[in-house]
Amino acid sequence: MSGDPRRRIPRTDEVLADPRLAGAAAGGAGRSAVKAAVVAAQQRAREGRIAPEEVVAAAVSALAAGPRRVINATGVLVHTNLGRAPLSPAAVAAMGAAAGCTDVEFDLETGERARRGRTVLAALAATVPEAEDVHVVNNNAAALVLAATALAAGREIVISRGEMVEIGDGFRLPDLLESTGARLREVGTTNRTRVRDYAEAVGEATGFVLKVHPSNFRVEGFIAAAPVAELSALPVPVVVDIGSGLLDPEPLLPDEPDVRTMLRAGAALVTASGDKLLGGPQAGLILGRADLVHRLRRHPLARALRVDKLTLAALEATLRSDPPVRLALRADLAELRHRARHLAGRIDDRLGDGEAARSGPAVGCEVVDSVSVVGGGGAPGCELPSVALALPVRLALPLRLGDPAVAGRVAGGRLLLDLRSVPPDLDEELVRAVLACT
Ligand SMILES: *Cc1c(COP(=O)(O)O)cnc(C)c1O
Repeated sequence: MSGDPRRRIPRTDEVLADPRLAGAAAGGAGRSAVKAAVVAAQQRAREGRIAPEEVVAAAVSALAAGPRRVINATGVLVHTNLGRAPLSPAAVAAMGAAAGCTDVEFDLETGERARRGRTVLAALAATVPEAEDVHVVNNNAAALVLAATALAAGREIVISRGEMVEIGDGFRLPDLLESTGARLREVGTTNRTRVRDYAEAVGEATGFVLKVHPSNFRVEGFIAAAPVAELSALPVPVVVDIGSGLLDPEPLLPDEPDVRTMLRAGAALVTASGDKLLGGPQAGLILGRADLVHRLRRHPLARALRVDKLTLAALEATLRSDPPVRLALRADLAELRHRARHLAGRIDDRLGDGEAARSGPAVGCEVVDSVSVVGGGGAPGCELPSVALALPVRLALPLRLGDPAVAGRVAGGRLLLDLRSVPPDLDEELVRAVLACT
């Protein structure tokens, strides 16, 4: 079988001679680890999972320390597997500044201990004037656990059967809530739950009513949900988990709830993620009534859920800047098309940044219409028009194994690099990454 690609798999000594692998063997990685990576890559080529020409790149990639930088060209703006929201340059700089010693719990004027994270809490409170008080924990799941523990342990949380949500990777909110010792009092049905259903279930044992935004699915047809404005007339607190972290209404996403609207409607507490549509670091925001926020903050569990100084720094900078997720969401289609044409021309002319044209055949890069989505378990069914570079599908793996890695999506037999999820300041790197693979 002379055409058998397996015969083209390079021999171990040939692969080990590659300067990057030789360097790794001589350096920190050690010879046996490098050899193991090469053998594993050869095995994957034998199984037909990678091409023989990709053995070296696969071995180099396997040896790289993680986590590795990825350019998100998937068109999914908040990609959970790629770490959700990319931080703004301002947030990155703030994390750098906070990485050493910082005044996170120290008043530089008086030289005394100060409230932890007071500047970010003040910034959040200023952005959401409807909140009497605010608190920040490790993520939205932690915010819910803290609320359930502090307000409903040994008591009941009244929740609609239509809002018993699985948030991803097999994690179910009902299980999370019950793990705190609270009991769930389910009301209504999958598709219809009315205010009366809640009112009949609320009683002595109620800790709070919980409204969960069904952020990663949509129910259509014969449906009814109870508005927060009506539930807030009940004699118990209404806690609203909005998921996405929008502080204000976003005109482009009319179905996504936001913190301010929910508080104005009478929610006692609102919880949200920091790293979805807010575009910041992983965090859980808790905003609302002062007495309830105080109870949460003073609960012993709060200490186990507190965020570190880097998160506080990044969150504060996010609140004061335009994060990449918001810029991507609002990016103008004509501008995306303009970028795409420019990049495609550079790729087809094999023209890297400030370089003479490289030799070799044209790559065959086309500009095509695409559709981006919000992702990260947000705005299901919402499609954002976008533009992509279409490339031969054989580039998908080498692009993923590059440095930085580039993640696109394969559709219709081509690799699409969707530009809505790529910040424009990464365009040069994107061109270089593509040219390096051809
Ligand atoms: C994403 C999401 C969560 C979980 O938030 P994390 O910040 O990932 O813990 C909880 N509830 C809803 C409605 C969500 O969309």
